Amino acid sequence: ATPTALMVGTGRAAQLGILIKGPEVLESTRRVDTVLLDKTGTVTTGVMTVLDVVPVAGQDVGEVLGLAGTVEAGSEHPIGRAVAEAAGRRGDLPAVDGFAATGGLGVQGVVGNRAVAVGRPSWLRDEWSVALPESLQVAAAAAGDAGRTAVAVAWDGEVRGLVVVGDEVKASSAEAVRQLVALGLQPMLLTGDGTGAAHSVARQVGIPEDAVIAEVLPQDKVAVVRRLQEQGRVVAMVGDGVNDAAALAQADLGLAMGTGTDVAIEASDLTLVRGDLRVAVDAIRLSRRTLAVIK
Ligand code: ADP
Ligand code: MG
Repeated sequence: ATPTALMVGTGRAAQLGILIKGPEVLESTRRVDTVLLDKTGTVTTGVMTVLDVVPVAGQDVGEVLGLAGTVEAGSEHPIGRAVAEAAGRRGDLPAVDGFAATGGLGVQGVVGNRAVAVGRPSWLRDEWSVALPESLQVAAAAAGDAGRTAVAVAWDGEVRGLVVVGDEVKASSAEAVRQLVALGLQPMLLTGDGTGAAHSVARQVGIPEDAVIAEVLPQDKVAVVRRLQEQGRVVAMVGDGVNDAAALAQADLGLAMGTGTDVAIEASDLTLVRGDLRVAVDAIRLSRRTLAVIK
């Protein structure tokens, strides 16, 4: 490809709201056949709110939300921020000792004389040996079916309730998936969230069930990209989070949401300034056109 033609492509990209690291990026874009989409913050808005609090029998809603939000006040995760904000609206939050966050799983801390853990139900089961009672299993499954995420709240050796959080699928996401398929590309959904929520979001945007990879820990997202590459695929990955950065760097083409974290943007080849997934399709189309002109 001649430098001049690539520079023209880069200029057009800027008009479309795409920032490109270097003109050579357009070359790898052309061969992409698989597009991995992060769920939260990429396909969905990533702006989480608390939608429901489900205590176990005999437990108080305010206490479950209050203790969960108190521990989550130290979290930078969108789920943590939503829970802390909802709890904070009901009153001042007490201090936390020994706060710790475990990426992609949950948080813990001591409030007064209570050791509290908030996170993925399977993490509480495996790491803290506390299981969801049946009533909460039903509620958690229902939340997942609705595309929402249920996090479990436990203290003193027992699960005390669920906090259900969720965000919205972006209005442009289904159209973007349709356009990817029309270009002959295979869209896939990659998320650390539960299988239920992942399948619900996939259904809403038209990604087939067998193209959903859920409950992937932050450090394992990069392995998913590598595995697909070993199968001979040329992989584009679109993401926004700190937990997407390694996968974005490993992908043949990394695309960051401009609305996302700096780490994701730095790891990527392209940045979609407005965080609109349709612009990812524009980027792929543009590179094909630019290179077709040159040939
Ligand atoms: P995603 O890939 O959707 O960005 P993450 O890897 O960040 O998801 O998180 C995966 C899961 O880990 C969440 O769905 C949630 O169950 C759990 N989790 C992570 N951080 C927290 C937190 N601060 N509070 C509660 N749960 C958390
Ligand atoms: Mg994300």
